[in-house]
Amino acid sequence: MNVPASRIAVVGGGIAGMACAHYLSQRHEVTLFEANAHLGGHTATVDVELHGHRHAIDTGFIVFNDRTFSACWRSWACPRKPPK
Ligand SMILES: Cc1cc2nc3c(=O)[nH]c(=O)nc-3n(C[C@H](O)[C@H](O)[C@H](O)COP(=O)(O)OP(=O)(O)OC[C@H]3O[C@@H](n4cnc5c(N)ncnc54)[C@H](O)[C@@H]3O)c2cc1C
Repeated sequence: MNVPASRIAVVGGGIAGMACAHYLSQRHEVTLFEANAHLGGHTATVDVELHGHRHAIDTGFIVFNDRTFSACWRSWACPRKPPK
């Protein structure tokens, strides 16, 4: 398909906007507009200290667990427990 290059504005630098901008930019001139000072939207890794231990919490995938994503685990054939 021979689509002429266009100038495209993508509003929002979350994962959806970044993915769109990435793929569109292969053929078009893309400008990404993000209201926050950082990219990622809901997806961000935040350091939390609990009982003297520091944990890196990914706010975009905080419910990535066996109960919620059991079909994912099956389809990816991932081990259910981390190797010791
Ligand atoms: C606490 C929490 C836990 C989650 N857990 C999971 C999970 O376990 N598994 C899972 O698959 N998903 C999870 N999600 C959902 C997942 O994070 C979101 O579906 C995904 O990040 C949404 O991406 P998005 O790009 O569509 O939107 P967003 O991440 O919301 O990005 C939208 C971006 O657009 C920007 N924006 C909005 N309006 C404007 C404007 N007018 N001008 C410029 N910029 C603008 C915002 O600032 C933001 O950066 C969770 C979400 C939350 C909040």
